[in-house]
Amino acid sequence: MKIENFPEDIQPYVIPDLTSDEGERLIYRCLGCGLEYGIEKLLYTCPECGQVLLIYDANFDRLKKIPGELWHRIFDYRKMLKISALKGIYLYHEFIGPIIPLDSIVYLGEGHTPVIEANSFLQKKAGIRFYFKNDGQNPSASFKDRGMASALSYIQFIISKGYISSDVLAICASTGDTSASAALYASYLKPHVKSAVILPHKKVTPQQLSQPLGSGASVFEIPGVFDDCMKVVEALSEKYNVALLNSKNAWRILGQESYSYEIAQDFEYDMSDKVVILPIGNAGNITAVMSGFLKFYETGIIKTLPKIIGVQSKHANPVYKYYLEPDAEKRKFVPVTVMPSVAQAAMIGNPVSMPRVIHLVDIYNSMSDKQKVFFVEVSEQDIMDWELLANRNGHIACTHGGESLAALVSGYEQKIIEKNDVAIVDSTAHALKFSGFQEMYFENSFPEEFEISPNRDLINSPVFIRPKDLEKVPAPGKPLTGEDFKRFVERTSEEIANALDLKKV
Ligand SMILES: *Cc1c(COP(=O)(O)O)cnc(C)c1O
Ligand SMILES: [Zn+2]
Repeated sequence: MKIENFPEDIQPYVIPDLTSDEGERLIYRCLGCGLEYGIEKLLYTCPECGQVLLIYDANFDRLKKIPGELWHRIFDYRKMLKISALKGIYLYHEFIGPIIPLDSIVYLGEGHTPVIEANSFLQKKAGIRFYFKNDGQNPSASFKDRGMASALSYIQFIISKGYISSDVLAICASTGDTSASAALYASYLKPHVKSAVILPHKKVTPQQLSQPLGSGASVFEIPGVFDDCMKVVEALSEKYNVALLNSKNAWRILGQESYSYEIAQDFEYDMSDKVVILPIGNAGNITAVMSGFLKFYETGIIKTLPKIIGVQSKHANPVYKYYLEPDAEKRKFVPVTVMPSVAQAAMIGNPVSMPRVIHLVDIYNSMSDKQKVFFVEVSEQDIMDWELLANRNGHIACTHGGESLAALVSGYEQKIIEKNDVAIVDSTAHALKFSGFQEMYFENSFPEEFEISPNRDLINSPVFIRPKDLEKVPAPGKPLTGEDFKRFVERTSEEIANALDLKKV
């Protein structure tokens, strides 16, 4: 819709206003010592104390002056605009990057992923009403695109301002999806931005490996697990002139907040009785989701904070373990050594965003009248079983989506989730990225460490049909003709009909 066709009172708000007090609005704030820094420089950690940073809007109070109901209309009308910069995560421009001009925004189709209600069979199985929000339907097939769109838009912005030279090498360590996303977005900004990704050898799926290769990134594989890759990338970013794209980069967090904003908008801004369930790896995403809901709450856009459940596999559960201790004073963070997990993108023993999680969980719970953030752990077996069951009922969930669904069931059993709650379950990537695990399940070929044995009812495999009494069958380049072909079609369809137990018409 054209701007002149919007209601008059909405027109001044539909396109974000970048002319008023631009500049010093956004700042990095250190979660350790509290020092603040301007955002003209790309910082990852506090130069003073080394702690991680979050980005704050020093002028956030101006957003509170707009009533919540007006914000609803602004976002709902803005959805009708045909300006591509505002079609993705920057629909929430004022909250995600109020200083980023529209012509610096990189939009590749990320965000606004579908929210799909589970069918009645699956809801009955799980015991409660729920929806999948399928972030596998992002351009590189995971939620990481939300954060990359933000980080790369910021990089375009500081290049355009001349804060950095227009020759950027973006690097990241990855459990697979960060590199796929980083390489995709960087390739769009060629020739100004090039990318290099560092992966743990044999610890990403073939599909995930094919993605940065296809986007033309420099791909390096090293021995070890993600935590080892992260250390190498940190060493590189400290000593060399590179732009780090891991979620240590606070711009990633800002972009991923869009996940919360979309949920709010998709449920008409009514977050009462809602539960959002998501997997935790490096803990960037749960940081973003808490931060996003808090911002909408503080501005009156939502009137209640939804419950949030962070889930980890028993094979990579440092955050879960930290919160096992009920007394906040006694909690002590201890990194864990990870074991093989089908939730491979979350196989992280020492999450970079742990200080952010601790900081935000505190605020989130104290802003609510009761505890609203919970952590659960689930078994590898449950992750696979629930993923496969979900996909047999119309979804395209990845293993992490299965993990989130397993957490829904466990959370309900533990009474963290109540009967009338409605859950929004995050499938963080597309099922196809992790189809190798499905194959291992169907073939019963999981190495022992996974502790997964297939449930017979969920196994599926192709049946090869080749009628024994046929002398000739077609082959590529050697089609059958005449009677031979007729007989081939007849006999093959007969055998398929037998296998399916079909009745004749
Ligand atoms: C990165 C990733 C996660 C973990 O998210 P964090 O922000 O690292 O906690 C979960 N699922 C998928 C598919 C991912 O790519
Ligand atoms: Zn500091």
